Amino acid sequence: MKAYLDNAATTGVSKEVFEAMKPYFMDLYGNPSSLHYKGIEAKKVINTCHKKVAELLGCHHTEVHFTSCGTESINWAIKGIAYNNKTKSEIITTKIEHHATLHTIEFLEKRGYIVHYLDVNEHGFIDLNQLRSLVNDNTLIVSVIMANNEIGTIQNMKEISDICEEASTYLHVDAVQVATHVPLSLDNLNADLVSFSGHKFHAPKGIGMLYIRKGTHIENLLHGGQQEHNLRSGTENVAFIVGFTKALELGMKSMLMNILRQNELISYIVSELDMKKIDYRINGPKIGENRLPGNLSISFKDLEGSDITYYLNKANIFVSTGSACDSTSIEPSHVLQAINVPQDYINASLRITVGDDTTFEEVEYATKTLIEILTE
Ligand code: PLP
Repeated sequence: MKAYLDNAATTGVSKEVFEAMKPYFMDLYGNPSSLHYKGIEAKKVINTCHKKVAELLGCHHTEVHFTSCGTESINWAIKGIAYNNKTKSEIITTKIEHHATLHTIEFLEKRGYIVHYLDVNEHGFIDLNQLRSLVNDNTLIVSVIMANNEIGTIQNMKEISDICEEASTYLHVDAVQVATHVPLSLDNLNADLVSFSGHKFHAPKGIGMLYIRKGTHIENLLHGGQQEHNLRSGTENVAFIVGFTKALELGMKSMLMNILRQNELISYIVSELDMKKIDYRINGPKIGENRLPGNLSISFKDLEGSDITYYLNKANIFVSTGSACDSTSIEPSHVLQAINVPQDYINASLRITVGDDTTFEEVEYATKTLIEILTE
């Protein structure tokens, strides 16, 4: 028996997505920029994908730009705004961003930008009053992770976008964990830039998307053949663009059913731990509305996360720890530190994330094994 419970890290390509992509490797391989039939055929497919993605996410097709991953989308959004708007020099972000955002902003900080890192409360919600007090005429961009990849917190985006709109500052949203997991309409989100990544919802690794709202003044990062509405050069990866679009379509179709099912699965884990009187705390908001479905970030008292994952891994149960390793040390993650997980719990933090293809048997096996490890 095995259990893959690390769906926030990545998901496998689904069979239907793979089938949809297949013709574009060996048969329909034309370069969309070529002016002959084979190129035009490929170009038409890309145009259809722009339109389909726009329809699914609630925006205009000219606002959809395919990229190579979530990290590229985030880099482009933040640096692209910085390079094209030289008069403003302050950036606001949060203490619980993904490293794709934090390291991009650190890059700009080293080049003279003033950066403010918003605090979050114990559940990971950003301090809106602090945001209100920090935005000013010199604020270039606010960058916020809509749904946190570690603790699942879904921010109050309406309040955040209202504050940004009032202050006339650009808003970038990292929605990498959102697509197909949480209802989303880009027209309602009221953000200027929104980043996505396909491998979080059964498209392959290596395909992302950046939504750029009409009228947003952003510089290109990649210069060349002027693909993607003249903004992102590089011959398009037609197969992966098709995969992204198909996976998004399928994921959106089954989203509401999956939300319920995934929350049931993680509630089962919690109820089993309760029955066995295990000492744990859940990091992030209550399971339900403001938390990513299927996300269980959990810490155990006076234990070591690496010991627990060692035994889970041996039993073919795959989860993430709440720590970041470098060559010399294992540190609790910046997100768990930002929400002040107590010291006697923080070192034994796990992130269990179920997906739409996770079975009850997998969760039952993982829970039983976890309890055995914790009670030995
Ligand atoms: N942002 C968030 C919230 C993520 O979870 C991830 C991936 O883990 C990324 C950005 C980076 O996306 P990618 O792996 O496609 O570069």
